[in-house]
Order: sequence, then C-alpha cells, then structure tokens
Amino acid sequence: MFTNMDKKDLDEYAQRVIDGMQLSEDNLREMLLVTDSTELEKLHYVARKVRDHYFGNKVFLYSFVYFSTYCKNRCAFCYYNTMNKINRYRLGFEDIRNVCRKLKGEHIHMVDLTMGEDPYFHENPSQFAKVIDIVKEELDLPVMISPGVLDDNALTMLREHGANFLALYQETYDKELYSNLRIGQSFSGRIHARQFAKKIGYCVEDGLLTGVGNDVESTITSLKGMARENSHMVRVMTFIPQEGT
Ligand code: SF4
Repeated sequence: MFTNMDKKDLDEYAQRVIDGMQLSEDNLREMLLVTDSTELEKLHYVARKVRDHYFGNKVFLYSFVYFSTYCKNRCAFCYYNTMNKINRYRLGFEDIRNVCRKLKGEHIHMVDLTMGEDPYFHENPSQFAKVIDIVKEELDLPVMISPGVLDDNALTMLREHGANFLALYQETYDKELYSNLRIGQSFSGRIHARQFAKKIGYCVEDGLLTGVGNDVESTITSLKGMARENSHMVRVMTFIPQEGT
C-alpha cells in the first residue's frame, strides 16, 4: 500500500492517522502482509511518526518486582503454569522491602508488582495490599500491579492502597485461540476486570501475544478487540518458548 508513496505522501498518511483516520480491515490486512523490506521500512516510518506524535522520544523505565511465581492457572505459553514442575518462590514482606531498598536511586519511574495467580494472595488480598504499602513506604513511585484476574473488591482495596496501574493482557481477542492459550479461564471475566479497574481510576494496560498460532485474520480480530477496549496503554509481545510451555 505504500509502494508508490514518497516521503511527503508518507508524512501526509501519518498525519491523517494522527487526525483520527480509522484503518479499515483491508488496510490492516495489507499492512500485516507486508514483507518487502522497502515497504516495511515505509510502514515503520509512518508508525514512528504516529508514535512520536503521542509519546515523543522519552523513555520511561519500570522495574518488575516478581514477588510470587506460584500460579493456579495453566496458560499454555507461560513458564509459570501450574503443570510445570519448577522451583517457585513467594517473597516475604521483608524480602520485598529489601528489594525496594536496592531499587532506591536506580532512576526508575514505576514499580511493577507481578505475580502468577497465586492463591495465597488471591484469597488474601489484604496481604497483597501490604506489599503495596511497603513499596509506597520505601519508594515514592507509581505502582503497577500485574496480578492476573482479581475481583472488584480486591481491585478496589488495592487501588485504595495506592495501586495506580493495572496490567492485564488479553493476549488475543480471537476466542478460539484464547481458549487454547488461557486454558479454562473466562474471556469475559478478564475484560470485566480491566473495565472495572478503569472505572475506579486505574490506568489500564492491555496486550497481545504473537507467535502463538495467530494468523493475519486472528491478529485483525485482536487489534479490533483491543481498540474496542480502549485501554490507556497497549503492548504487543512475542512468544519465546521455554521448557514446559
Ligand atoms: S496466569 Fe500468568 S503466571 Fe499464571 S500461568 Fe497464566 S500467564 Fe502464567
């Protein structure tokens, strides 16, 4: 689609996207099927212009604090799935405090408290709230939580303790693929958690996973789904196979 466009045409195209032009399914299909390196560079050029319009070229750093690798779920793409016989850990409060102290002066902008769907914290969200309290005490930084699907009450409690961002990735909006990836987990429940979090003031992040059997049509379904959800932040990740996935 960019074959006959020169730099001026590409600049104008990027500007039309910035001004709100909606890409059709055919546009998306064409873009996803680009393989020619010159055309790909043109696509990247337009994408960079749109990105720079919104974000400039600043880089924000956040640090994961992966505080529990226990999980009750069986996501097919994840090393921490409950079927995988690996060594797991759950950090205690003092360990978490020590991690935070080590992060002081590291010039990060946010802490991302990440865990699997660890039943210990999911059944005792007040324990999770204590983790947030510790991070807030030690580091005066925004906190993202990446805890899997929590119910409305838990999300509310954690928000009241200072959680600012919720990362909860759908991975795909193709329902069939979803059922193969997030085995036995509710498609709509995941969407609800993000929508509820948004309503009570979280900045919400959604994400897609590629390289897991998603063809072009499945990817279009996911892009449209993610657009419909209108989360504050979105990302696309690439699957990297590991033992047990
Ligand atoms: S819920 Fe998260 S940690 Fe658990 S298996 Fe799925 S992706 Fe992995």
